[in-house]
Amino acid sequence: MSNAVLKVTTDQLKKMAVFYQDYVVKPVPHSLFTAKKNQTTITGYNSGKVLFQGQNAENEAALWQPSYERTGAVNPPAAKKEVKKEIASKAGLPAGFSEWSVIGSDEVGNGSYFGPLTVCAVYASAEQLPLLKKLGVQDSKALTDARIMAIAKQLLQQVPHSVINLMPEKYNEIQPTMSQGKMKALLHNQVLNHLLKKIAPEKPKAILIDQFELPSTYFKHISDQKVQVKENLHFQTKGESHHLAVAAASIIARYYFLKTLAEMTEASGYPIPSGAGANVDLVAAEMYREGGLELLDKYTKLHFANTQKAIRLANR
Ligand code: MN
Repeated sequence: MSNAVLKVTTDQLKKMAVFYQDYVVKPVPHSLFTAKKNQTTITGYNSGKVLFQGQNAENEAALWQPSYERTGAVNPPAAKKEVKKEIASKAGLPAGFSEWSVIGSDEVGNGSYFGPLTVCAVYASAEQLPLLKKLGVQDSKALTDARIMAIAKQLLQQVPHSVINLMPEKYNEIQPTMSQGKMKALLHNQVLNHLLKKIAPEKPKAILIDQFELPSTYFKHISDQKVQVKENLHFQTKGESHHLAVAAASIIARYYFLKTLAEMTEASGYPIPSGAGANVDLVAAEMYREGGLELLDKYTKLHFANTQKAIRLANR
């Protein structure tokens, strides 16, 4: 168990709230958001203090500041500016990157109790970028579900892509043997490899993964894989604002995720919500009453704390 604490500006805090919106849990008092990711709880307080607690606290905090301070050491006021500059400087990406021919990848559903874990890679060549802009491709978190569905249908026809929609039953089978971080890394590596083959002999100038863990951790996770996509590979948090390929990948991933939730609603007869909040527990409790863990296994990520909450609710 480790801890890290950052002091950030209001703007930065809002960015973090958006970044972690797929992972939100019930917020604690005086916080803008509370999220749980990779066995780490991230709490963004209205005061600008962000607390990272748990197994991957240091890695997670490092996403936001290369030289984060440990618990107890409150950053001097000057550090506030540095955090902002760090995010604004598009750390690490070469000049002109957003105009390059790039494969971008992103995942959806890792913070949602119900539904699949969906990972998508998209190839956006330099020539296609104006078209993507015209279609309205931008950060999927800024788009309504209806817009996402409409834009995705166009994208599916227009851009080379690769998707893995890992359904709950399969997810639950794999999950006990590896962390969700490793699972995500393997899936990114797979869609990237698949898409590279699909567009060959054409090659992207670079590959950009919407960063979800430290690159060193990512490479450790894929180190046992036969094929490891590493050439010209970049990582960037908020990747969708650095290249449209990532934004397009996040839109297609969300499309598949939402479509699957709709199909699950149809198949199960329960209104299946996304996320991991209290409304999710209520639906899960009903489902558990009807069919126990066997039924939940078809529709949910069983290792989430929501399973225990649902069982408690059902047994009341
Ligand atoms: Mn992402």
